[in-house]
Amino acid sequence: MFEKEIIPYILKQYTKNIIKISVGAQPNSSPHFGTLETIALSFGLASNIMKYDKNKKVIILYEVIDSAPSETSIINEIKYQKSLKYTGKINEFFNEYLEILNYYKNLTGIDYEIRYQKEFNSQPEISNIIKKIIENKEYISSRLDPKYNKIRIRMSCPKCGLTDKNSILNKYENNKIIFNCPIHGEYYADLNKDTSMLEYNSPYRNLIRCIYYTLVNNNSNYDYQIIRVTGSDYAGFYQEEMRYKLASYLGYPAHTLSMIFYAPLILDWSGAKMSKSLYVKEGAYSDIPTAFINYKYLKQEYGLNGLKKLYDIVSNWFENPYMLFRHYTIYYFIKEFEENE
Ligand SMILES: [Zn+2]
Repeated sequence: MFEKEIIPYILKQYTKNIIKISVGAQPNSSPHFGTLETIALSFGLASNIMKYDKNKKVIILYEVIDSAPSETSIINEIKYQKSLKYTGKINEFFNEYLEILNYYKNLTGIDYEIRYQKEFNSQPEISNIIKKIIENKEYISSRLDPKYNKIRIRMSCPKCGLTDKNSILNKYENNKIIFNCPIHGEYYADLNKDTSMLEYNSPYRNLIRCIYYTLVNNNSNYDYQIIRVTGSDYAGFYQEEMRYKLASYLGYPAHTLSMIFYAPLILDWSGAKMSKSLYVKEGAYSDIPTAFINYKYLKQEYGLNGLKKLYDIVSNWFENPYMLFRHYTIYYFIKEFEENE
């Protein structure tokens, strides 16, 4: 279906003049090669939309998951975490992300915006989305947390940052979520005004983001629409079950939902997604040059030109869009890098 072109299909649904391409990351290490590919692909998509339709303005919307865990502990048999934001670990790697975004901005002329979870959660639509999820908590939690049946919404203790990772002790009363810190006791979020402090696990964040983008896209008071770009390990069963069916159940019809554009996966020799933890822990990738592991090593080997090489590879996929609908082993990139030496 998309053998020769894909942009016109996207623009049938994205009719506003401004399009934001949302891409996210949890900055808890030097960006993996797969993360770099997703960012490069986002700029490639933006650039191809603007080439196709000169009236469109496309911006990268970088959603930072600063609520991702940095430290974890177990107290009274309950798992707690402290976020990247609370521990300050986010600052360790964030400059690398900025360097990459700035490089691609200069290369393509596409601007970017950065949004943290606090700003995301301060949007006026979020409160109603959370209330709706809580109103339907049995249905939603049985599907998004089949093991514990919990609404995986959390908030860090305002005094010490400890967060009940699995939302085990949460209570829901009169538009309030009451949380529990093992040291400081109960604290709460009033869903009419305190949503900015909320955090979610990935499936809940995915659903909330989907509904929020949909509300923005279909509201003429916003002059832009948002497309999400994410790795295609989330394509298929996951999104059908966790996103489309659940949003539809909550009253947002599937055909109105925001679009996801999937970045091809980068696979190792076994066909599994390249994983940095595997590399570090078990030396499983001893045959792969370190430049193809993460940004730090890529830069050591190729300098910023490594980002250019990667961009050239992924932007070529838009010339032959069927190339966007498959996966690639890491050896494909190694070979392409060598051939363009
Ligand atoms: Zn506390």
